[in-house]
Amino acid sequence: MLKPPLFRKVNTRAREVHHRFGGDYRHQRNTEDELRSEVVRQGMHGHQRRGLDYTPLFKFLLSKVGQCWDDVYAEAISRLNSPEPIFWLVARHQHQQHDYVRVAEASYYSGLYIDEGGVLQVVNPNVGPSSLPPLCACCTHTFNGIRFTQSFRDNGEPEWLCET
Ligand SMILES: [Zn+2]
Repeated sequence: MLKPPLFRKVNTRAREVHHRFGGDYRHQRNTEDELRSEVVRQGMHGHQRRGLDYTPLFKFLLSKVGQCWDDVYAEAISRLNSPEPIFWLVARHQHQQHDYVRVAEASYYSGLYIDEGGVLQVVNPNVGPSSLPPLCACCTHTFNGIRFTQSFRDNGEPEWLCET
């Protein structure tokens, strides 16, 4: 049985996508966004491939926690154009393990790792949609696809300008 790819193509004409589908513009970038990501990035590298959305991959990986990594990896690469996005979530080395990973403007996922037994695990199961405050008021922040439960708190600092 042929399974569908674990990524989707995104219409990179940002404005049109935004207007057609409402507030979900997390996959689009501009220079300002990239600059901003640089500032707020938490020990990560550029987790973005222009024009491709790996949400199906991230959901696939989360659904495979507790399973044999060799099997999970084999299936994942068979359904991807590149293995690279797998390792945005899954740490290759212990020092790369993160409680959470920010894959796009307001899209966060659990950091994953492979334990000594070769089983896929969550780095910190206590981190979830209620753990982090949104960075702005205008974007819908999600953790593993679930909306953040905290609301944006105006602490008097200048708010980042998001693409709206
Ligand atoms: Zn925003």
